[in-house]
Amino acid sequence: MSRYWSQTTKRIKPYVPGEQPRDKTYIKLNTNENPYPPSPRVIEALHRAADESLRRYPDPECEELRQTIARCVGVAREQVFCGNGSDELLAFAFLAFFNPGTPILFPDITYSFYPVYCTVFHLDYEPVPLDMSFTIPVEKFFVPNGGIVIANPNAPTGTCLPRAAVREILEHNFGSVVIVDEAYCDFGAESAVPLVQEFPNLLIVQTLSKSRSLAGLRVGFAIGHQELIEGVRRVKDSMNSYTLDRLALAGAVAALEDEAYYRETIRRVIATRERTAAALRAVGFSVIPSKANFLFITHPEAKATELYQQLRDRGVLVRHFNLPRIDNYLRVSIGTDQEMDAFLDCITALVQKTGT
Ligand code: PMP
Repeated sequence: MSRYWSQTTKRIKPYVPGEQPRDKTYIKLNTNENPYPPSPRVIEALHRAADESLRRYPDPECEELRQTIARCVGVAREQVFCGNGSDELLAFAFLAFFNPGTPILFPDITYSFYPVYCTVFHLDYEPVPLDMSFTIPVEKFFVPNGGIVIANPNAPTGTCLPRAAVREILEHNFGSVVIVDEAYCDFGAESAVPLVQEFPNLLIVQTLSKSRSLAGLRVGFAIGHQELIEGVRRVKDSMNSYTLDRLALAGAVAALEDEAYYRETIRRVIATRERTAAALRAVGFSVIPSKANFLFITHPEAKATELYQQLRDRGVLVRHFNLPRIDNYLRVSIGTDQEMDAFLDCITALVQKTGT
C-alpha cells in the first residue's frame, strides 16, 4: 500500500489470471487456451502486416474487422464493436451501462472479473445464487436491477442456458442492459446473437481467444443495438482510441475468414471434452455437463486442493478457485488428446491411491 495511491487503487482487489509459469514445461490446462494453433492463414496475415505501415496508427474504427464479424455472425456492421480482448469490452460496457447505487446482478459463481469491475467503477452488485446443480435460476433475474451480466456458458462451471432462457431474462428486463458474455459459446452453446434485432438492451461479448486459438493476439468483439455500440465507443474514445493494433486487426480478419479450420478445431475440442468427461466419471468424479472448452470436476473422496498440488508436482496445471461453494472443484481446460491422456493417467492414479 502506498500513500500515493488513489482511494480507488487502495480499494480494488485486482483479478488474478491463471498462472503462465516459466520454471518448467507443464501440461497447461489452467487458462482455457485452445490446444491447437491458430489457422495458418493468421500467421501468413501477420507476416504480411508486419511491414513499414506499422509506423502508422491502426484504424480506430476497425472497419474491415467489423465488416468481417458482421458477415460471419449475420448482423450489420453498426452493431459490432471490437476490443483488445473481451475483458476490455466488458470493462467498457460496465462503465457505459451501469450506474453506482443500483445493484447489478450476476450469478454468485461466475467469471471472477465481474466483481473486480464493480469495485473499480464504484458499482454495487448482488450475487444471484446458482442452484445446487450450478444452473442459473432464470426467475431470480426477474427483479428490479441496475443491469445483468451472464456468462453463457458460465465460467468456471461450463453450464449453459438455452436461448429461450436468455430471451426470458431479456423480456423481464427492458429497463436495464443485459450483457451476455459468450467467451465459450462456440464450443456447443446457443448464442444469443439472433436476439439482438429484437432486444435493444442486449449486449453480447465474444472473443477470438478461445475458439480461434488467439488468446495471445487480444481480440474480442461485442454485438448489440447501434445505441449500445455507440455507448461502448464513447467510453473507448475517452480512454484509448487505438485499442487494436495493426497486427491484431490483420490476424483477426484472417482467423474469421478460415471457417473450415475453425469448425475442425471446435469439433476436436468437443470430442476430447466428451471423452475426458466419460473417463473422469468412470473413476468416480462428478463432472458438471459442459458446453465450454473446460470441465468442472469434483471427487467425493479427494480434496481438490491436494489434487491440484499433486497434479502440479507431476507437471499438470489445472485451476483451483479458493471460493465458497466451489473450493472442492477443479477446472480443467481441454487440451489435445495426448495431453488429456497424460492428465487422466495422472489423476486416475491419484484418486485410486486416495480411495485405498
Ligand atoms: N469472459 C470469460 C467468461 C472468460 O473466462 C474470459 C477469459 N479469461 C474472458 C471473458 C476474457 O477473455 P479475453 O479477454 O481473452 O477475450
